[in-house]
Amino acid sequence: MTIYNLGSINADHFYRVGHLPLPGETLAAADYSRGLGGKGANMSIAAARAASRVVHVGAVGPDGGWATDYLLESGVLTQHIQRLDVPTGHAIINVDASAENTIVLFPGANREIALASVMAALAEAGPQDSFVTQNETNAQADGLRLARSKGMRTVYAAAPFDVAAVQAALPHIYMLVLNEVEAQQLEQATGQRLTDLGVADVVMTLGAEGCRWFHGKQQQDFAAHKVTPVDTTGAGDTFTGYLLAGLDQGMPMAQAITLAQKAGAVMVTRQGTADVIPDLKDVRDAFPPE
Ligand code: ADP
Repeated sequence: MTIYNLGSINADHFYRVGHLPLPGETLAAADYSRGLGGKGANMSIAAARAASRVVHVGAVGPDGGWATDYLLESGVLTQHIQRLDVPTGHAIINVDASAENTIVLFPGANREIALASVMAALAEAGPQDSFVTQNETNAQADGLRLARSKGMRTVYAAAPFDVAAVQAALPHIYMLVLNEVEAQQLEQATGQRLTDLGVADVVMTLGAEGCRWFHGKQQQDFAAHKVTPVDTTGAGDTFTGYLLAGLDQGMPMAQAITLAQKAGAVMVTRQGTADVIPDLKDVRDAFPPE
């Protein structure tokens, strides 16, 4: 079984600055580092480290070979990542001494993915496979529609939140994953409760409070594991990647959520993003099976 992820790939450029630049100011950074970012890339890596077969569908620019290599080294299949003549999606992240930041995000190749390449990627996919996407690429609804027509398990992660993007996805999905803030925004914008969206399974993550699963008119709460968080970046992406992997591997929903919660808890104890997404062994070491 394979998880196809139509997802973003970003270069995150971090600059350490004494203060955040003011209008008109030119500022020298004290330090620079680059990392792989993008919700899509994070989810692919999480699902691959959870031992699923993951095909990432996306695009980078001429400067994006390192990002594709990083995904490949993380166990993600990369043959459906297009190399386009536009810049790789990237974020310019200035971080000051008090950890306050400003971020400029350029979607670049993430918004130029050819639908034909999504179709090519899904050519051999079928009902045993999953398809997931988030709101950082183009072709989300078209990809979901195509995947659903093939009988695939279609999943949408409603982040970064945009009501039009979620509404375009809703008719085509079996599962929606979103955090509490996104859930509130969705309920406010649509006037509908999460249980009335017509989606079979909705999973709302609640940070340190765990998560809630809505299925039909029923709901079930899952308490989070008690850990000391260091950096919550990427917790949601890790959770979703593991949830998909658990379902892909045939786990019932409650078991897949339990696994995803363990992975999310490990993730928040680590500083960093793609590089520190845990693998199954890390998760088992942190939470040994009873
Ligand atoms: P997002 O990053 O999308 O806002 P959340 O912060 O809700 O997502 O986190 C996703 C999941 O990660 C949670 O449902 C939970 O399982 C786990 N998690 C997040 N923060 C913590 C925490 N402080 N302690 C334990 N688990 C956490």
